[in-house]
Amino acid sequence: MTKTAEGTEIGVKSKKKVVILGSGFGGVNTYLNLHKLTHKDRLVEFTIVSDKNYFLFTPLIHEVATGTLVPEDVISPVRGNIDCCVTDFILDTVKCVDFKKNKVYLLNSEIEYDYLVIATGASVNFRNTPGAKEFTLPLKTLEDAILIKNKIIGLFEEREESKNKKQIKIAIVGGGPTGIEIATEISEFTDTLIPNYSIFKDKKSDIDIKILNASDNFLPNFSLRLKKEVFNLFRFGKSPISLILNARAKEVMKDRIILEKLDEESSSKERSVDFDIAIWAAGVSPNIPGGDFELTKSGRILIGHNLNIKGIENVFAIGDVADTDDNSLPQLAQTAVDESETCARNIYNSIIKKPAVPFVLRQKGLILSLGHNNAAISIGKNIFMGKMAWFLWRYFYLSQMFGKGSKTKILLNWILNEFSPRDISKI
Ligand SMILES: Cc1cc2nc3c(=O)[nH]c(=O)nc-3n(C[C@H](O)[C@H](O)[C@H](O)COP(=O)(O)OP(=O)(O)OC[C@H]3O[C@@H](n4cnc5c(N)ncnc54)[C@H](O)[C@@H]3O)c2cc1C
Repeated sequence: MTKTAEGTEIGVKSKKKVVILGSGFGGVNTYLNLHKLTHKDRLVEFTIVSDKNYFLFTPLIHEVATGTLVPEDVISPVRGNIDCCVTDFILDTVKCVDFKKNKVYLLNSEIEYDYLVIATGASVNFRNTPGAKEFTLPLKTLEDAILIKNKIIGLFEEREESKNKKQIKIAIVGGGPTGIEIATEISEFTDTLIPNYSIFKDKKSDIDIKILNASDNFLPNFSLRLKKEVFNLFRFGKSPISLILNARAKEVMKDRIILEKLDEESSSKERSVDFDIAIWAAGVSPNIPGGDFELTKSGRILIGHNLNIKGIENVFAIGDVADTDDNSLPQLAQTAVDESETCARNIYNSIIKKPAVPFVLRQKGLILSLGHNNAAISIGKNIFMGKMAWFLWRYFYLSQMFGKGSKTKILLNWILNEFSPRDISKI
């Protein structure tokens, strides 16, 4: 008999093999939480599988796309940060899961597990929109952020070279937090770019940024008051951003987005928006490995309230990839982080033969950055905007960053940025 750190006597004969798929918010935090519970008694050995050998801090990638942070600031290597009780980190792609054999099949090998955590996140969803994949730039990966930065700077260079003074048009499809945040950052990025190019003079006339939202419900999950504030900021503020509601992208061409209006009356009228650069920020679809999964209506892996796959006690799915049948789990980093605590607790409880605990979503509030020195925080019915909210936004995200030295790197860069302009090199 072994006594656990919590005083429970257990008859664990051998270490349990926990396999975690994904090195994002859900994956790394499940490791950290379960490791805390099991390290002393060495109850578990972990294998982490991911198609990237780093953790990506998505909430800050728009700052990479607009020259405030460098790519290395928003990633943390898995190796070196996750090493205790880990038998293996495997850089590979998950193909499918066989629940009957307790096996995961990867592109290059296969592994067995006692407990499995699926935290493979989500990828960009172009919603079957013709031309979207070919002609728009998504913002989901680090490579996407670098490409957006290069495209913007490349466009300025081309215009300078050809002395073409035509207004620069940027269209952003999706009026959720990602669309709004990247729009405000690009607007400020152009403040740094314009003085460095002789043909551009004035942001208001040289730059046009349009955010297209399919319905009138932009910033879903945010309070009505906050939506109004953001809407008015774009409408009456000095930025070149306009937010167009009920503007669903029907088709994307090389330099034009064809829109379809949602209103019954106007659905026959087609409108279009011309662009030089178009960014796709209109949702994600889950990365579900092959296997016998039951799915929710929205196509995510169906899980029970203990976060395990229904009827399969030793397989858990968390983060963007999974949802309960009441569709109550928002695809947010904070959801994945909270779920990782319950998931770790339930694996531990199963090992020490204690009952599972249900997951309770704690809505802490929502945060939105609105460029340098401005952010909006929505907690219940209250909203906070301005510089203080911006500081809190930065403090909150800094505290969430994972990996040794990563917080310091970001903090130092943010401090340096107060005294130096954004980076405008095309890399
Ligand atoms: C631009 C942007 C900004 C965002 N801003 C915010 C924000 O401000 N606040 C907030 O709460 N949320 C934000 N989100 C959402 C947040 O990033 C996600 O909700 C969160 O990352 C979900 O965590 P996860 O662990 O489920 O997935 P992820 O963090 O995406 O991790 C998935 C992991 O699985 C790996 N993987 C995927 N498929 C495979 C495969 N087949 N084989 C092996 N490995 C695989 C990936 O490489 C990755 O390591 C933002 C998202 C984006 C794109």
